[in-house]
Amino acid sequence: MTEQTPFEILIVEDSQYDYRLIKRALKQSEFQSSLTWVQRGETALEQLKSINFDVVLLDFKLPGMSGMETFKAINEQIQPCPVIFITGAGNESVAVEALKLGAIDYLVKDQHGDYLQLVPLVINKAYRQWQEKLDRLRMAEALRLSEERYALAARGANDGLWDWNLESEQVYFAPRWKQMIGYQDDEIGTNPSEWLERVHPYDIEALNSALRAHWDGLITHFEHEYRLRHKDGEYRWMRCRGLAVRNQNGHAYRMVGSQTDITEQKVAQTKLMHNAYHDALTNLPNRRLFMDQLRRAMSRSWQSQRPFALLYLDLDGFKKINDNLGHLAGDQLLIAVARRLETCIRPTDIVARLGGDEFAMFLNNVNSPAMGEMIAKRIQESISTPFYIDNHDIFITASIGLAFSSTKYDNAVDMLRDADIAMYRAKHAGKARHTIFDPELHLDTLQDWQITQDLRHALADNHLQIVYQPIMSCSPHPHLTGVEALIRWHHPQHGLLSPQEFIPHAEESGLIVPISRWVLEQACQQLQQWHQQGYPDLTLAINISYRQFEDEDLKTLFPHTAAKYNIPPQKIHLEITESLSVRELTDAFIVLADLRQLGFCVSIDDFGLGSAFSCLAQFPLDLLKIDQSFIRNWTPNNKNSAIVSGLIQLAHAINLKVIAEGVETKEQLAFLQKQGCDYIQGYYFSPPINPQQLHTFPQSMPQ
Ligand code: C2E
Ligand code: MG
Ligand code: MG
Repeated sequence: MTEQTPFEILIVEDSQYDYRLIKRALKQSEFQSSLTWVQRGETALEQLKSINFDVVLLDFKLPGMSGMETFKAINEQIQPCPVIFITGAGNESVAVEALKLGAIDYLVKDQHGDYLQLVPLVINKAYRQWQEKLDRLRMAEALRLSEERYALAARGANDGLWDWNLESEQVYFAPRWKQMIGYQDDEIGTNPSEWLERVHPYDIEALNSALRAHWDGLITHFEHEYRLRHKDGEYRWMRCRGLAVRNQNGHAYRMVGSQTDITEQKVAQTKLMHNAYHDALTNLPNRRLFMDQLRRAMSRSWQSQRPFALLYLDLDGFKKINDNLGHLAGDQLLIAVARRLETCIRPTDIVARLGGDEFAMFLNNVNSPAMGEMIAKRIQESISTPFYIDNHDIFITASIGLAFSSTKYDNAVDMLRDADIAMYRAKHAGKARHTIFDPELHLDTLQDWQITQDLRHALADNHLQIVYQPIMSCSPHPHLTGVEALIRWHHPQHGLLSPQEFIPHAEESGLIVPISRWVLEQACQQLQQWHQQGYPDLTLAINISYRQFEDEDLKTLFPHTAAKYNIPPQKIHLEITESLSVRELTDAFIVLADLRQLGFCVSIDDFGLGSAFSCLAQFPLDLLKIDQSFIRNWTPNNKNSAIVSGLIQLAHAINLKVIAEGVETKEQLAFLQKQGCDYIQGYYFSPPINPQQLHTFPQSMPQ
């Protein structure tokens, strides 16, 4: 209540005359008040529900609800407030009764109205008394709450309390504090050294300076984490909180606080941190940590000129081992390789696993390519000693690329890329060797490497597309019998790329496997649509890369996809190119024989270029595709005529149908028809087209 704000007073008085007298008395006393007058107890209760009055003057004698009943209702139903009873002379005993029940004061009306002079004084006094009572109540409540909170905190947090008298240099350690580090109550004294001497040597300095900073008032709340030695000799992580008690000059003379054991939390945190920066299989640093370290080393080397080298290592033929011996053996091999690599480096160097079978090493103080090469050689020798895993001796080699800080890199990513490119080149040069990055020599490789990197994104970014080249019957009136699915890449910088430009990269990197899955899925979906749109007999030729035979799921992939799109296997022609080695072809045909059993047609592509001629009869085949070079270059008089007709006769003799590719002229078509070729494909009829264009393509052609 300030001087400007008037007292809000509720006057409950049935006599208007008496009310006026009270009002005048208050006015005369210049007592600042705002009065609300009601004549009945019930109305007073209504008013009290919505307004907070500073004081209530309550007449004892009221019509209806009596003064005493009104008072009780105020206390029970509404918030208690300072009530001053007004009684008639001779009724003082009632007033006393009301005081017992909690009324703050009373006034006794007298005949001469003398009591009116007392009204402002009694109101003032009552208000003050009431405020004091409220303050006392509030304090008691606050105390109760804080005591409760403290008891709860001490119990709940399982904290060890301590109380340090900074003047007498004595610390009270609660029994719990001692128990936390394995001691009985009587085993630890009151000297601060009992605490400080148990702090881990690495942490003591920081703890001391945090304490000092708090005592000096530099930090308002003391909170610090450190390790404390347990009786068992092990260290426990503690979080300590405390507050200094200061004298009038701000000088800290006492400090009170608590200590919590956070060891479990710390261990979990450390584990999380470790997992984020380490490879789960080999426990080596992962790419993230390696790149962090590399960045740091770079900025150090800019200042100190201390040279270092980066070594990028990829195991040769790891996938084969994984496929042949299983993933578990593959994992064991990676772990064993990791351990061996660790033995090849110095303690200040770092070896990390970047992913798959790729490792990187950071070699400190390597100041010449010769020194880098020496280390690379040592690593290669170490790797080439057989690994004994799962009762097998495993022989493996590694391709290594090296980059040196002397190239003055701006950033870590570029340096890693160059080491990767050098490794890529080592692979191309025949594996099991190392190459040093040389900016000039590697320009071509950089492009190849970049294409492979881009190809990784092409699938996800939807930059690949399939076009379809019609295949016609070679009858007098050729008609559409099928299509061959051919892939295209819309490269964001280089424009449209033909498969010849990127399939070798896809094969080299293994990306051909996911790409081929995508082609199969898309093309089967398209074929299903065509079957439903009036081309029920259309066949689909799909090219298969030799690398797909490394995909364990290949055998089930085709039947599953065909079934998914409701396509009879006979309508799918699997094309494998003849330009593979006999060995690779033999491996492929072992798988293809099973698929052929299921009804798929198998066709040998680009026939005439490769080496399969001698074993043609043994392969499980349905179709032979004569390579387009024999057809495109055909003229009535050249030798190709004899080769082509010979190939057709030979194929027919062993029950194979023949497709001639690269038919570009009417003459070539006429020749093939005469030779009894079965199908033809070539620009004479159509180049590869978009799926929509098939609807405008004539299903049969006049000769
Ligand atoms: P391929 O399987 O022998 O495909 C025939 C190639 O000859 C296609 O080239 C086609 O456009 C071209 N061609 C067709 N008719 C004529 C003609 O009359 N004259 C001339 N000059 N060329 C003609 P494309 O599409 O560039 O494909 C090249 C090779 O890339 C294919 O040879 C195939 O081995 C490979 N390829 C294409 N798509 C895929 C795929 O999805 N997966 C795999 N693994 N390889 C693919
Ligand atoms: Mg083909
Ligand atoms: Mg071909």
